[in-house]
Amino acid sequence: MPPPATPEARSVDREGRLPAPRPAPALAGPPPLQGLLLDELTARLAPAGLVERDVRRAHAHAMLHDRPPFDVPHVARVKLERARALVATPTLEVLDRRRSPTDGFQKYLFRLHDGLTVEAVRIPIFDDKYTVCISSQAGCPLACAFCATGRLGLARSLAAWEIVEQVRVVRREADRPVRGIVFMGMGEPFLNYDEVVRAARILSAPTGLAISGKAITISTAGIVPAIRRYTAEGWPFRLAVSVTAATSELRRTLMPVERTYPLPDLVDALRAHALDRRERVTVEYVAISGVNCAPADAEALGRLFAGIPLRLNLIEVNDASGRFLPPSAEEWRVFRDALGKIGASIVRRYSGGKDVDAACGMLASLTGPPRSLPLAT
Ligand code: SF4
Repeated sequence: MPPPATPEARSVDREGRLPAPRPAPALAGPPPLQGLLLDELTARLAPAGLVERDVRRAHAHAMLHDRPPFDVPHVARVKLERARALVATPTLEVLDRRRSPTDGFQKYLFRLHDGLTVEAVRIPIFDDKYTVCISSQAGCPLACAFCATGRLGLARSLAAWEIVEQVRVVRREADRPVRGIVFMGMGEPFLNYDEVVRAARILSAPTGLAISGKAITISTAGIVPAIRRYTAEGWPFRLAVSVTAATSELRRTLMPVERTYPLPDLVDALRAHALDRRERVTVEYVAISGVNCAPADAEALGRLFAGIPLRLNLIEVNDASGRFLPPSAEEWRVFRDALGKIGASIVRRYSGGKDVDAACGMLASLTGPPRSLPLAT
């Protein structure tokens, strides 16, 4: 892996050097409850006299309800008063929300405590539940050529509580339950590994938001060491990997992270993951007219993933700059036919909310003007 880029760099550079991590600044005062695991909360609240059973009740209550937290039946008032002083319950300000009249996707713009902004999307699933697409970083350092967020560069990573709070806020005003989470908003989740895994654990905890681990998907552009770590740690959340090109040559022009972690290494890590989990690898593929959806691309994908059980999620590009266009109906037909021959399970994923810039690759329209980045060559 190339050495880190200069300290001031905000995006991956032409040699594949990644910018230095920029963790979230700590809040003054007690730690936010939304970022604590149950055992940490239990230790934190022990001085208030709360035993584990009380803490479980208090945690579930605080996560599911608005302020004041810890208004919990069957626990002594005096203990709860003391507990309130030991943890904070900050929230994120909603600066804007826009709902698509076409398909009901709703985009949120949140302000973080240091003034930065991030976006999330509430996705209706049939008529009875929602999935929430959340951000793991403010901006993104990976500079994928087809993505508006990538043009922002990295401002900083989010703390676990800021990730969890996106879901809590969306959930609070939802008319149906939130049953799924996708880490496919702004940022590269595996460049903020610890906070993302922590957030997923809190979201799935029975006293957290109790979302099934299988309904939480962490999507990465291919941070190979983090994928290997994730496989070794055995977390129950689903993994999806954005590949988008079947050759290193093409991928370097679309996803500069290819210079850092080339396809052969990525595919090795995915093979190991599939073997370990005994399940298909989910590969995201952003289809771009005239760029990566010819029969030759399908054949190259077949060679690249030979012997690896694959679930291929096809997503049409949403490039507000107009540089990249989605495939025509005929390109889709030809590409799907060619993919059928490689034996992958194929899903063409609906990427909704285009009319409110909430679709995949569009999360930056409310966040601020994009920086101009050199195009990858
Ligand atoms: S597609 Fe994902 S990894 Fe690539 S720049 Fe956009 S947010 Fe970052």
